[in-house]
Amino acid sequence: MRALRLVVAAYTVLVVQPLHAQTTAIRAGRLLDPATGEVTADQVILIAESLITAVGADLEIPDGTVAVDLSDRTVLPGLIDAHTHMCSGMRLEQHFGRPTLAVIYNSTPYRAIRGVIRAREVLEAGFTTIRDVGNAADWADLAVRRAINEGLVPGPTMLVSGKIISPYGGQQFLPTEHAWLADKEYLFADTRDELRKAIRLNAHQNVDIIKIIVDDQRYVYSVDDLRYIVAEAADAGLKVAAHCMTERGAHNAAEAGVHSIEHGWYLSDETMELMKRNDVTLVTTEFTADVLREYNLDEETSRQLHGIPVERMTRAHRLGVPIAFGSDLIMDFDDMTRGEAALSLLDSFVESGVPPDAILYYMITEPARLLGMEDSRGSVAPGYYADIIATTDNPLENINTLKDVRFVMKAGEIIKQRD
Ligand SMILES: [Zn+2]
Repeated sequence: MRALRLVVAAYTVLVVQPLHAQTTAIRAGRLLDPATGEVTADQVILIAESLITAVGADLEIPDGTVAVDLSDRTVLPGLIDAHTHMCSGMRLEQHFGRPTLAVIYNSTPYRAIRGVIRAREVLEAGFTTIRDVGNAADWADLAVRRAINEGLVPGPTMLVSGKIISPYGGQQFLPTEHAWLADKEYLFADTRDELRKAIRLNAHQNVDIIKIIVDDQRYVYSVDDLRYIVAEAADAGLKVAAHCMTERGAHNAAEAGVHSIEHGWYLSDETMELMKRNDVTLVTTEFTADVLREYNLDEETSRQLHGIPVERMTRAHRLGVPIAFGSDLIMDFDDMTRGEAALSLLDSFVESGVPPDAILYYMITEPARLLGMEDSRGSVAPGYYADIIATTDNPLENINTLKDVRFVMKAGEIIKQRD
C-alpha cells in the first residue's frame, strides 16, 4: 500500500509539472520546413520547457507565456553540422598548415578549453546540433560534451566519436620511430582483435559514433575489415563514420554498408550508385579555397583542390546520393569564429549548383536522419526539441542569410537574439 501511495504521488507530480513549466510562444513571420521546402506565414510556436508543444496559425496563448516576436523573420529548425572537430585548432602562423604540430604544441586540457569556446561559437552561428568526429587528444571531446549536457557551458547538442580508429600510423604520416606521437589522436587497429578492442574502448567511454580512417595509408581497410567494424559497432548500438579520400576506400566502405562516407572527394558515379543502394550518406566537407590556404597551400593549388569536391558535389546532388553538410574545420581564423567559418562553406554548395531548398535539406533534414535524431530534431513540430533559428531573409530566396542568423534557441533556451 505504501509503495502504491508513492507511485501515485510520483504520478501526480509528473502530471502537474507542465503547469509550472516555462512556456514560450514564438510568433514566426514565415516558418520554413526544410524537409519539404514549404513556407507558411504567421505561425505561432508554443514551447514548454525544452519541447515544442504546438504549431499553428490561430493558437491560444496561455497566460504567463513568454512572447518572442519573430514576425519579421524566417524561422526554421537549427542547423546541424555532421562533421566537426571542436577540440582541434591549427593556426597557420604557429603550425605552418601541419595538423601534427598543432597536436604536439597543444595539450589535452588546453584543447578542451578551446573546445568549449568553439562549441559556443558554432551554437551562436545557428548550429544547434553537431557530430564531432575525433582529433580531440585524450578524450577532450567527451569533457566538452559532458560540460554542455550538464549545463555548465553553452553549446550545441554534441555527438562525439572519441578516438578515431585507423590503420597503423593514423593520418600524421610520421616516421615509424615517431609514430607514437599520433597515439593521442588515433587508436591504431589492423587485426580483427585490435579493431574489436578499439571499438570497445570507445564504446566503454560512451561515445555516440565510431569514426574510422579507411584509406590515408597505402594499406586500406578491406570490405571484410569494414563489415567486421560495422557489425562490431552495431553490437554496441553505434553507427560508423568512414573517412575516405580515395575511390578505392570509398568503394570498400560503401560496399560494406558504413553509415556515412566522410569527404569522399574522389567518388566515381558507380560508387555513388552503390552508396544510394546501401543507404550510405555522403558527409560533404567542401573546403573553400580560403580554408585550403590554411594548410599552407598557395593560391593556385588551393583553387585547384577546391574544384575537386565542388565537381563531385554537383554529381552527387544530381544522382540523388543522401548528403549531409559537414564543415571539417580544424583551424582557427583571425576574422571568423568557428561557426562563421563553417557557414563560409555554403559558398561551395552554391558553386556546385545546389539550389537553396536542397542546401537546407542537406544542412538539417538529412543530418538529423544520419544522427538518428529524425524524430526529435530537425523539424519545428510538436514533440520535437525547440531547436530554432531565425534569419532576416527567406533562405530559399537568399541562402547567404544563413551566414547572419539573428535568433538561436536551443532546447527552449534563447541563446541569441539580435535586431
Ligand atoms: Zn575531419
